[in-house]
Amino acid sequence: MTITERTSVIRQAALDAGFDAVGVAEAVPLYDAFTHYEDWIARSYHGSLGYMERNAEKRRDVTEILPGARSVIVVALNYYTPFEHRGEGGKVARYAWGDDYHDVIPERLDRIVAAIKAIDPTAECKRYTDTGPILEKQWAVRAGLGWQGKHSNILRRDIGSWFFLGVIITTMPLEPSKPMEDHCGTCTACIDGCPTKAIVEPYVVDARSCISYWTIEAKAHEEFPSNVVEHLDGWIFGCDVCQDVCPWNRFQRPTQERRFLPRGGVTVLDTGEMLSLSPDAFASRFKGSPIKRPKLAGLQRNAKAVEQRRNE
Ligand code: SF4
Ligand code: SF4
Repeated sequence: MTITERTSVIRQAALDAGFDAVGVAEAVPLYDAFTHYEDWIARSYHGSLGYMERNAEKRRDVTEILPGARSVIVVALNYYTPFEHRGEGGKVARYAWGDDYHDVIPERLDRIVAAIKAIDPTAECKRYTDTGPILEKQWAVRAGLGWQGKHSNILRRDIGSWFFLGVIITTMPLEPSKPMEDHCGTCTACIDGCPTKAIVEPYVVDARSCISYWTIEAKAHEEFPSNVVEHLDGWIFGCDVCQDVCPWNRFQRPTQERRFLPRGGVTVLDTGEMLSLSPDAFASRFKGSPIKRPKLAGLQRNAKAVEQRRNE
């Protein structure tokens, strides 16, 4: 089998596994993209996410993760569902309306790994869903899966930016995809629309001002800065403003994955109910949901901030 035929089989396996798009990059070290990442860290734009400072060499060079790696396969899974925020309460970011993508994507990646092994049983693979020291967005750009928008998320013309990324590093040589052209042009809608001005320059988000960072990633004991409180606008978990205003997200097509449909039709959480949840009730209500990430204390901190802001 030629490298072209092999690549075509693997691409088809990704589509058969239900991914919406697939790209392939050569597993050589990241250059400019890694320098930008280092600069972002040096400016402390990652906030208190200390883990992002670690494993720099693995982030730059995937052969530090998998010796002998030759290719990086990057896939996209659309999570858009045609619903909106409905009702009073705290708004939840789209990606968290359904089941946790960490539970949905790995089994699909395993099907691609199986296709690789069917061609060459000695090929080694490592797969990641937002879990390892992989600069997924940078690899997505290199694999031609999309372009990086000025809000820093990856975009495609066919499915906008509402998609998750998955990555497979493999020792199998594959044909790299062509890079995708940047279609942001002169648009600055995301930069202008960000309520906290967290997009400090095109492609650079200062997490310390980002509502998503504060409502998902920041530890429960960390207090929201005044800039975030003032512009919270009801977000209890995440923030979609920069993606909502993007023209490429105007004509979205719904995902085929039913597990991303809003659980129980809920896109807005009742803040009073969240504040009265017991640890057991929280664990059972958000089992298998991304909303469990900030833990009960974090979610309740967010709910309090939403309520306080509403009552001011
Ligand atoms: S997620 Fe919200 S706060 Fe963060 S950069 Fe986008 S619009 Fe700004
Ligand atoms: S809103 Fe405009 S600048 Fe921002 S990502 Fe979308 S197209 Fe690019």
